[in-house]
Amino acid sequence: GAGGGDSSDGKSSIPGVKRIIAVASGKGGVGKSTVASNLAISLAATGAKVGLCDCDLYGPSIAMMFGSDERPMANEHDEIIPIEAHGLKLMSMGFLLEDKSPVIVRGPMATRYTQQFLRQVAWGDLDYLVLDLPPGTGDIQLTIVQTVAVDGAVIVTTPQEVALIDARKAVSMFAKVNVPILGMIENMAWFECEHGTRYPIFGDGGGAREAANLRTPLLAQIPIEMPVREGSDQGKPVALLPTDASPASAAFHQVASS
Ligand code: ADP
Repeated sequence: GAGGGDSSDGKSSIPGVKRIIAVASGKGGVGKSTVASNLAISLAATGAKVGLCDCDLYGPSIAMMFGSDERPMANEHDEIIPIEAHGLKLMSMGFLLEDKSPVIVRGPMATRYTQQFLRQVAWGDLDYLVLDLPPGTGDIQLTIVQTVAVDGAVIVTTPQEVALIDARKAVSMFAKVNVPILGMIENMAWFECEHGTRYPIFGDGGGAREAANLRTPLLAQIPIEMPVREGSDQGKPVALLPTDASPASAAFHQVASS
């Protein structure tokens, strides 16, 4: 129906959207939103039409990362028109908040909001819709991946053991609902000083080991970099920088082109 193709497993696609990619993490603060934003920008740089949807009702950060406080309008079909920034179509709960106060909604409402959110946005024709899932593997995340026809998931982790444990949970959540894991991205893999010495701040090689254990590709290792943090704070994600100006930018573009 109007909600897109309904498949036999109860998941429905979003009209006009060719591929839906979920970016997930077991744990907050590992850089999931940073990765989702930069992957979306890198995909768009390949010439693809890309949308990015912040599915986190409790801590929306995409609006901030793109430096946008524009308020979305509705079209004549009562659909929300996504904000456009850096060549992407963006939708975030952050755009809908009156003030920057946290949204307080309980489980079932949160699920309904998220559904509405995804389906009542006038995405138009997209090659990729990147979903920035809320951190963790709770009800909201599960509902999204059970009801939306997600084509593949990217799991973001740091090399730290606590993050890896939770990344494993995220991997098994996707396995349960038959969503293929495209691979893992190890963020904050190291910090490289101006002399070229690499400091594995959160531990060495954890992401690579975990990816091997889970038999899933390690798509990239993203270093800890000032430009990554600055880019997010200034509304200009690092992938907008030339790849020779930032190893992190280079890594994101390499993932998007593979
Ligand atoms: P999550 O979505 O997992 O909660 P965020 O993407 O919001 O995490 O990242 C948390 C913080 O860490 C942000 O302030 C972000 O700018 C910063 N950050 C993320 N990845 C990096 C990195 N590779 N180098 C430097 N800062 C980073």
